[in-house]
Amino acid sequence: MNRRSFVKAAAAGYPLALPAAALAAPAVTGTNLTTRIVRLNLQHTWTTTMSSSQYRDTLHVSYARDGITGHGEGAPIVRYHEDAEGARKAVESVRGLLLSSDPMQFAKIMSLVFKQVPGNWAGKAAIDIALMDWVGQKLGIPLYSYFGLDAGDTPLTTFSIGIDTPEITRQKTREAADFPILKVKVGLATDEPTIEAVRSVTDKPLRVDANEGWKSKEEAVQKINWLEKHGVQFIEQPLPAEMIEETRWVRSRVHIPIIADEACGRASDIPKLKDAFDGVNIKLDKSGGLLEAYRMIQTARALGMRTMLGCMVSSSVTVTAAAHLSPLVDYADLDGNLLIANDPFHGVTVEKGKLVLPKGPGLGLTVA
Ligand code: MG
Repeated sequence: MNRRSFVKAAAAGYPLALPAAALAAPAVTGTNLTTRIVRLNLQHTWTTTMSSSQYRDTLHVSYARDGITGHGEGAPIVRYHEDAEGARKAVESVRGLLLSSDPMQFAKIMSLVFKQVPGNWAGKAAIDIALMDWVGQKLGIPLYSYFGLDAGDTPLTTFSIGIDTPEITRQKTREAADFPILKVKVGLATDEPTIEAVRSVTDKPLRVDANEGWKSKEEAVQKINWLEKHGVQFIEQPLPAEMIEETRWVRSRVHIPIIADEACGRASDIPKLKDAFDGVNIKLDKSGGLLEAYRMIQTARALGMRTMLGCMVSSSVTVTAAAHLSPLVDYADLDGNLLIANDPFHGVTVEKGKLVLPKGPGLGLTVA
């Protein structure tokens, strides 16, 4: 039966043996897109050099078609001049494109979205993740399989300790007993008491994130040299993002690796960071989704740099999406979902620090 006679038969109400996929053109009816801002409540007030908050609003996107629903999320943050309502508007601005396109052409769709939507990387990430979740489910394979990866190769993830009083810092460190490596936020005047509070509870390896908090190259060198003596494996973003030359100067005077975070959004940011940083922290909310994050991992590798996957405070949607790429990277800091009290989904889990990917198709999420 060719397409014309198939359509004729359908119109005549004859029983049809062919599946809908046999039609040359994909069905455009029944495709649905929803955008929703979800307030995620934090278990502890979350303080970094940037802000202090008790909740975070993230944008959730669902893309439904052929009886399959793909879920996506992006966490817009003030540091990148983004907010949830702006992210929602950005996604709504490409609603027509998303509803009229064949989702199996996800890379083409995302390149059009990147061209049509300025900024709003978290909103773009929500679209990319929803599409990739849908595609994985359509193909019946988990996303790590789509990318040709082995779920057994996931790295350990750190658990992050936000800036707090020494007493709360000790409490948070004890609560993180199951994690063999901790990430500690510094960059305010309390750096030494914070590290001393953590060290009074544990001798685990630490990774330290200054979140651009130190303001001069001299201060950064002095702090990093102090941290080196306290079992710190590497330091993330010691100086403001634009101080790349100063960071190069710092790197020549310290012995632990320096990882770029705020200085590195997309793959095109990476070449200029070579020699100033040893590696890059890749986050889906900064990159605009999985496809660009994958390009960033390959770009950094090609330049001889280390790779790390990080996250914002977000639900299991974004964190699980990032975890599917984690077999590719050297370091993971994928704990954003563990910091919240009302995660709407179950996805990736952590066992003794190791990321455990769900086996279901796509992201493998289940509703909490
Ligand atoms: Mg960071």
